[in-house]
Amino acid sequence: MPLPYTDTVETICPYCGVGCTLKLKVRDNKITDVMSVPGNVNNNLLCVKGRFAHDFVASEDRLKTPLIRKNGVLEEATWEEAYDLITQKLKEAISEGPQAVAGFSSARCTNEENYLFQKFIRSVGKTNNVDHCARLCHASTVAGLAKSFGSGAMTNSIEEVDVMDVILVSGSNTTETHPVIGAKIKQRVQKGAALIVAEPRKIELAKYADVYLQIKPGTNVALFNGLMKAILDEHLEDRDFINERTENFDTLEEYLNTITVEECAEICGVDPEEMRKAARLYATKDKGGIFYSMGVTQHATGTDGVMSTANLAMMTGKIGREGCGVNPLRGQNNVQGACDMGALPGDFTGYQKTNNPDVLAKFEQAWGTELPTNAGHTITEIVDDVDKNIVKFLYIMGENPLVSDPNTNHVKEAFEKANFIVLQDIFLTETSEYADVVLPAMVYAEKDGTFTNTERRIQLLRKAVKAPGVAKEDWRIICELAQRMGAEGFNFSSSAEIMDEIASVTPSYAGVSHERLERGDRIQWPCPDKESEGTKFLHKGQFTRGKGMFNVAHYIAPEDQPDETYPMILMTGRILQHYHTRTMTKRTAGIQEIVGDPFFEINPKTAEENGFSEGQFIQVTSPRGSVTAKAVYNKGIQENTLFMPFHYGDKGANCLTGGKVDPIAKIPPFKVCKVFLEEA
Ligand code: SF4
Repeated sequence: MPLPYTDTVETICPYCGVGCTLKLKVRDNKITDVMSVPGNVNNNLLCVKGRFAHDFVASEDRLKTPLIRKNGVLEEATWEEAYDLITQKLKEAISEGPQAVAGFSSARCTNEENYLFQKFIRSVGKTNNVDHCARLCHASTVAGLAKSFGSGAMTNSIEEVDVMDVILVSGSNTTETHPVIGAKIKQRVQKGAALIVAEPRKIELAKYADVYLQIKPGTNVALFNGLMKAILDEHLEDRDFINERTENFDTLEEYLNTITVEECAEICGVDPEEMRKAARLYATKDKGGIFYSMGVTQHATGTDGVMSTANLAMMTGKIGREGCGVNPLRGQNNVQGACDMGALPGDFTGYQKTNNPDVLAKFEQAWGTELPTNAGHTITEIVDDVDKNIVKFLYIMGENPLVSDPNTNHVKEAFEKANFIVLQDIFLTETSEYADVVLPAMVYAEKDGTFTNTERRIQLLRKAVKAPGVAKEDWRIICELAQRMGAEGFNFSSSAEIMDEIASVTPSYAGVSHERLERGDRIQWPCPDKESEGTKFLHKGQFTRGKGMFNVAHYIAPEDQPDETYPMILMTGRILQHYHTRTMTKRTAGIQEIVGDPFFEINPKTAEENGFSEGQFIQVTSPRGSVTAKAVYNKGIQENTLFMPFHYGDKGANCLTGGKVDPIAKIPPFKVCKVFLEEA
């Protein structure tokens, strides 16, 4: 296929879920510079990752050929050899039943690739064991908001920040994790909007806040219950909205009448008067948005935390209007899209349930094959299944579970025993050490397709440079593998054709096509037909499920509590400069110079009480493992609490995390991990 060579190519940032538009300057098949573009989501703003972290595209480390493990060593192979081995192993696994095959899809790949991946796993692999990293970040959003509203996505558009009178940020270090949205929030506050921040660490946004609640880690449910109780106490709830648009408020009210603001504030470790002040501020302003991220979701009570945000918004009538809503900020560039595309065990595209017989029949007809009916397993369950030799064939596309999953020592033990792992990626990652076959894929700048950003906006990415070696688009690899398996329905020649099929089976994407996007249509789902302009904010007039549902959430303390052996709590999270497991950002020299090494943030008082000083290496141990890194002082972190970014290597923060998952969303607890520290 001829390369559409051009000096500048407009495309979408490959990093966070904001989905900024970039202009890549290209010379001699190399990205030489990245510019911002007026209009669009980011309107000329870019953060350090989008602006500078593009060296990885031309990195010498890029995978250039397929690799097959022989005598313990990955050796170069042809596509034919790789496909032959994969199809042989996949056929063997399929013959053992649906639990023997599993796949991890990728929030870094396009919508079209995620669609084909889950189609492949279900229709060729004959199993619903397909999942992706949303299980580790926002599965509780998908479950919780679906229960409350009927759909689990950000309800507002990013541009609506500009009309909000009050903004409540909880469990999100927005200026670091979603920098362009963080900047917009700061700009709006400087123009007069009120800001409430509830967050265990004193993050940058706390400096701009009218009320800052430094809650204890894992107390979000008590926080939201306290805010709602304060609103009830002062009769600030919106009874008209509650009566007309919602159901089950009586049950919530009955529960709230059994608790006090003081009790909730004590659980959270904050002043009850400050909690009341925050509640008053949120309830009395006309337009208000709640923004949250993994500080709310990554708990064994993540779904409860998410439903609590929905309760608060509905109780005050702050949903379904411009500038009013509940906004989960999605982490990776296409994690919203990967969910929308059905890279989840129980959902086809557009959250159509696999256990609904009508939906199943529809997809069987559309795909021309009988589909599996097994209850698909999630990422953490699949790792356990690999450990127990139940899963015999694991296909991983663009994920690095050796760094991103909880309790990575357990992942390592499981993968050491694995029967057969196929890894499709752009670099040799920590996970590739356990792969039997590695397939070279293309990066965002080498292919066409679409990403769906955190505000449900479907955006085109465009090919700018040629890939190294014989690397291929993920969608093309899936199609070729499927054809090798003798499957029909994978005969696509472009990502645009794949989107046409997505639109044909997905009501919320029915009006989407590459042609429209190329024309400049700016579409946010739901977009039910080709005439629809999409939906700027959700739940206008009525909720997706009809009436909004109040759900009572009782505060349950995190499983990990400080004790004699492990007297401190570790939280994990992201930092501005790095992205996910660093496979891309660590290959930008400037970023590596600034934040090349892992570190623990620690309150100076805690460090000194334990005999440590700034810059000293400390060893931190949880019931699951030990990690050594430098101590960095942060006065804004609570005493006896540590913070570590999760980006770093298989001996990083996720050696320490783990524990019981959320019973509904099955998301693991990454945010509250008991530890002790000692000299390294
Ligand atoms: Fe925009 Fe996020 Fe990319 Fe930064 S990382 S440029 S905020 S999309």
